[in-house]
Amino acid sequence: MSADTMQTIDLKTLITAIADAVSAHADELTALDQAIGDGDHGLNMKRGFEAVRADADTFAAKPVGDALKAIGTKLVMTVGGASGPLYGTLFMTLGKEWPTVPDRASVADALKKAIDSVAARGKSQPGQKTMLDVLYPVQAALAAGKSAGEIAEAADAASQATVPLKALRGRASFLGDRSVGHMDAGARSSALLVRAIAEAAGEFE
Ligand code: ADP
Ligand code: MG
Repeated sequence: MSADTMQTIDLKTLITAIADAVSAHADELTALDQAIGDGDHGLNMKRGFEAVRADADTFAAKPVGDALKAIGTKLVMTVGGASGPLYGTLFMTLGKEWPTVPDRASVADALKKAIDSVAARGKSQPGQKTMLDVLYPVQAALAAGKSAGEIAEAADAASQATVPLKALRGRASFLGDRSVGHMDAGARSSALLVRAIAEAAGEFE
């Protein structure tokens, strides 16, 4: 993405697209979390991103880095569960690391730091059937120069790839081998966020 493109992406449009996607898929996220968790992920995410939507004008009036930090704080306060602090950390760190001149390479670097801070917070790593199994491949696709459409495809494929994994973190890990054969709810919500952003942002270059 060029610096020009990044600056012309309207934050309110992005927030609206994300909140629409999360709310439209809340039942699906709930069903996924019911299979191997406690069934609250859909409502957790909907509550959080609808709260972000409600304050969209306030966020959109801020510089991008500050807006991302404020969105992260809002998510920590509203999402709840294990995913709230983790998504909150993702957005807060992305905001803290947001480059002065956002181009593809600098945004990919900031996103890497943000995902690493989620991993640190969750004491988790890829391969454990969590949102990280989508976030890291998405970062890699962004860094590798993939198009917005390809990045969204990579996110969907990565969420599908959590199905055969055994959960080693989060509530699903309590099920041991019985977690195999189901998609991780957080991986699916991450893929939804990525597709919503990719489609709203359009082609990055
Ligand atoms: P809870 O598990 O407290 O009910 P949610 O249902 O909202 O919270 O979120 C569950 C999702 O959070 C999981 O599907 C997984 O993707 C993610 N998750 C849980 N624990 C971790 C962790 N330690 N590291 C990374 N992601 C995690
Ligand atoms: Mg849950």
